[in-house]
Amino acid sequence: MTHLPEKLLAGYRNFMSGRFQTETTRYRDLARDGQTPETLVIACCDSRSAPEIIFDAGPGELFVLRNVANLVPPYAPDGEYHSTSAALEFAVQALKVKNIVVMGHGRCGGIKAALDSDALPLSPGDFIGRWMSLLAPAAESVSSNTMMTAAERQTSLERISIRYSIANLRTFPCVKILEGKGRLTLHGAWFDISTGELWVMNSETGDFERPEAE
Ligand SMILES: [Zn+2]
Repeated sequence: MTHLPEKLLAGYRNFMSGRFQTETTRYRDLARDGQTPETLVIACCDSRSAPEIIFDAGPGELFVLRNVANLVPPYAPDGEYHSTSAALEFAVQALKVKNIVVMGHGRCGGIKAALDSDALPLSPGDFIGRWMSLLAPAAESVSSNTMMTAAERQTSLERISIRYSIANLRTFPCVKILEGKGRLTLHGAWFDISTGELWVMNSETGDFERPEAE
């Protein structure tokens, strides 16, 4: 018999006596009516870049898809197992989200691995290596730029990966069609873990800018 780690149980007790108490009505309504989140966030698995925390979101507000390095693979209806595409399909077609935000972050381990041509597989399956090979052409291009420091290459590929994922989102017919009708908007964002800064992608230029303070 194993037990959940005590830290998790203590956190759950805090949740039940705190947030669940203050949001009881909201949880009850969500259970009765179902979820209607307006935004899909595609973020990295990294424990430091949780979208619900960064966007201060309550239950039912964000539909969150997390994978290594927040990558969206190209549309590939090939009968294989595509967890990212499945979650995307559900968010767009069933939940009819109005926004998709691809959010990358600083110090991303997946991006670091993509830039390290000497990185060895972590297991015989080399799932990370295979997954990050989606970015291989960009990673090779950035790696070969000796005018940039290692930190600059890292940040560059983190931001390129966001633009890459957004381009791949548009290879999904449902995304392309709904965006064309103005019913779906695609956004990019990059979170700096050390400072808490959020940089937002300019949809016209692809540059990342600090949003203007309210
Ligand atoms: Zn990451």
